[in-house]
Amino acid sequence: MNKIMDYEQAEQRLEQMVAQGRINQEEDLETTTYGLPIHHYTIGNGSKEIVVTGATHGCEIISADFVMNLMEQLSKRENADGINLSEYKIHFIPILNPEGYLISTSAIRQIIPRDMPSEEAEKMCKEYYMRYISDDAEAIKRNRENAELRKELAKAEEEGNGEEINRIQQRIQETLPDRDPEHLKHFQEMFKGVDYTCIPEKYSGIRERVREILTQYPDIPKGILQIWSANANGIDPQANSEYNDVITRILSGELDPNDQVFKNNLRYSNINSIHPGPINCGFDPERGFKIEPEISAIAGLLQELSEKGTLHSYFNYHGTGGVLYQRPMDAPKELSINLNEMWTRTLQNFSLSQFYARRTYKNANDRVHTRYRILTGKGSGKVTSSNDLFRVKYPRDILVELSGMGGNPIGPYGDLQGNYKNLMDSNLEAFRFAVGYSDVSEKISKASYKMIQDKIKDEVSEDIVDEIYGIMGTASKMLTSWLEKFGTKTRWQVMEEGIKRVNRNETDRDEEER
Ligand SMILES: [Zn+2]
Repeated sequence: MNKIMDYEQAEQRLEQMVAQGRINQEEDLETTTYGLPIHHYTIGNGSKEIVVTGATHGCEIISADFVMNLMEQLSKRENADGINLSEYKIHFIPILNPEGYLISTSAIRQIIPRDMPSEEAEKMCKEYYMRYISDDAEAIKRNRENAELRKELAKAEEEGNGEEINRIQQRIQETLPDRDPEHLKHFQEMFKGVDYTCIPEKYSGIRERVREILTQYPDIPKGILQIWSANANGIDPQANSEYNDVITRILSGELDPNDQVFKNNLRYSNINSIHPGPINCGFDPERGFKIEPEISAIAGLLQELSEKGTLHSYFNYHGTGGVLYQRPMDAPKELSINLNEMWTRTLQNFSLSQFYARRTYKNANDRVHTRYRILTGKGSGKVTSSNDLFRVKYPRDILVELSGMGGNPIGPYGDLQGNYKNLMDSNLEAFRFAVGYSDVSEKISKASYKMIQDKIKDEVSEDIVDEIYGIMGTASKMLTSWLEKFGTKTRWQVMEEGIKRVNRNETDRDEEER
């Protein structure tokens, strides 16, 4: 037996948890287009409600695995320390995209059967991970060559050397991403013999729809069923947003559905995502735009809790990267979210992410240096994905990319002791820590808001956003290290002291030092 859970094993594991009475099964949030239930579970009965999802991208199976571990851990009350289950109610949707999960794990089962011993499976996963690395290495090499050649080209153009210009331009062409679906990436090679028949006949609707997609779009390379992020309609739930740039450009006629749209990421550079397929397609241009059931399921739950006034936070788990994404700052005008709300949520989010990140590590022997980074990116990043939209509408939406080892779906299982264990242990602890101290985190964000109030202008300037992230980062670091030093006994005193310090201005600090 190995650690990979195919769709039916995941279902059994969840049924078992419910049967043991440790967790409540609520009514399914939705049924997918091809009839799979989107299950919903809860624990606790408090008035602050937390939502936790895994496998929005079907192939990010590590995130479903993590959410199920979290459910198991928190349901053993003695282990829920730091989280008071009469204060909180936690909603779990371990597999938001069951169709994608089924497709991806059916493909995996072709090369890693259920009865494959753990060590052997681990080796296969490591091999897959190494192939990802080599695909990435090739991409990095091409990018570097491209940059060098562009410099040479500029020089040749300056010198007016026509022959040289031609020669360099030709070489530049060779460094561009390889978009030929016949040229399989290393990771695709490993699954090239797996086709739609891997999906059990029992799920005939899904099996048939995947067959149709692969037939209708022969430009989809072989060896991609395992990275099926999308649902069985070939629509990626995360990309399924009316604010997705590709969708708006197609609908406005600016982009032709027969054009090609590739991910910049060279690893996926031979997958055209303008039409349904494994990854990144937000809608089917032939069928028109609609919100997919996976997205309406989570959107409905968040909206319901928000209207009740009980939505505390949303932890959205994805597969790989070992990072947290900070929310966008630029809300669509029609949502009429005012600047104060925007800043309040941004600061809440950043502060809670700081607490979360504090307990993460990729390497247990070097926890400080291998913490997950919070990617703030461009401060005024626009809303493009479905989750971006949730992030501007609701408070504390924490997006975690779990595994330090890349290569969905099986890369994260390529080193059980060094990667799998670290990501499970550290994120379980990070979740408890972030929720346990979310009231402290809230005070930090409020104090920070006071500090920046006069800096808030009509326009969201990236400089200011960066500056504030810096200030908050320092404040959270300071407070969390004090909390660690003084322990939980005096946490309230320490917190009050910390808030006072954060609120004090330069002059006060100088006086104190004198
Ligand atoms: Zn993802």
